[in-house]
Amino acid sequence: MSKVKARDIYGSEIEVIIDDEKVKNCPLCHISIRPDGISSFLNHVALKSDYLQKIYRCPNCNMIFLALFKQINPEGGRQIYQFERSEPYRPSEPSFPENIKSISSSFCSVYTQAKSAEEQGLSDICGVGYRKALEFLIKDYLISKKDELRLDEETIKKTSLGNCIKNHIRDAKVQEMAELATWLGNDETHYYRKFENKDLSDLKELIHLTMNTIDSNLIFEKHKKDMKPKA
Ligand SMILES: [Zn+2]
Repeated sequence: MSKVKARDIYGSEIEVIIDDEKVKNCPLCHISIRPDGISSFLNHVALKSDYLQKIYRCPNCNMIFLALFKQINPEGGRQIYQFERSEPYRPSEPSFPENIKSISSSFCSVYTQAKSAEEQGLSDICGVGYRKALEFLIKDYLISKKDELRLDEETIKKTSLGNCIKNHIRDAKVQEMAELATWLGNDETHYYRKFENKDLSDLKELIHLTMNTIDSNLIFEKHKKDMKPKA
């Protein structure tokens, strides 16, 4: 909590309390920071204001951003302005292994969009995005191995994700992890949730495990191929 002086719509300076503990990530460069607060403004007359906006400068990228605080407990007691969000927002780019980027640029792009939705508080729809990203990862991985697996690209595209995993993924670990991730991903798309004790962070963890195991397998296969004894 901090005390700040905020200017209301008539230019009067009012001392208010803001809960600014969560203003610690720059919405532009995403570095954890202690930003420099510059000025604060109320959207109405004194404490009748339900919103407070505060200007900050990020000490890392030196850019200005605005944090929005909403008044809580306005009926009696202490009036506090609680942090809601920072603007403008620039999505952060997750990093992907090179092998994954080369086999599925669509997975990287869809995953990045889902992450961006999550970071902007769109928690009810980002899970659908992560589920879609997983489907691209698995299908593009199978397409990259279609000759070895004797599979037809069109068939892979048309087959359900569950059947692609069950029938065509040969690595038992990848198969099991992808299957668990699909179950959790399906929970994000359906009205009824089967795994009530699991959430978005479990889904993301399983997608990461699947992605990293596919990457490790691809690295290992490359070494095996490079070092194959010549006949
Ligand atoms: Zn910054």
